[in-house]
Amino acid sequence: MAQEWNIKSRSAVCKGCQTAFSDRQEFYTALNDCGDGYERIDYCRECWRKNQDSHNPHSMWRSTFIVPPPPAPEPLKKETAEGLLRKMIEDDEARADVIYILAVMLERKKVLIEREVQTADDGSIVRIYEHRATQDSFIIRDPGLKLHELDDVQQAVVDMLGGGKAAAPAACEERRD
Ligand SMILES: [Zn+2]
Repeated sequence: MAQEWNIKSRSAVCKGCQTAFSDRQEFYTALNDCGDGYERIDYCRECWRKNQDSHNPHSMWRSTFIVPPPPAPEPLKKETAEGLLRKMIEDDEARADVIYILAVMLERKKVLIEREVQTADDGSIVRIYEHRATQDSFIIRDPGLKLHELDDVQQAVVDMLGGGKAAAPAACEERRD
């Protein structure tokens, strides 16, 4: 079975010809479920044409390469939703529902874009998000939360982000926009 969560970074070079992508260049991403995890491959247009037949057509998309801005200075204050999500994805003990809610929060803030929804072999739903600025792929298993469970999880997330009102996470990363 695939890993439950994962981040796959966008490559800076084409997998086929090893040429570095340039700003605003069109490129193609294939995300393959290899059984024991996901493999992400980025191609330039030409290499994509040569290689597309070897990929599942449901796990590919086209993007425009964006050279990411230099990282913002680390805020000393509260944890951001994105920082927390990246940390939790590295943590084998992390709660699936919290990871999912963080991803949804970041999607609402337009930090993440949902690229596709896959159904795993066991019937569970896996959502693939792309980070708007870094174009990393976030592979997140949807825990299928019931409506009445949402409030509890959201409160847990708000607590992890430094407490306060439920509106706090939305304001955390505003200055990055
Ligand atoms: Zn290429």
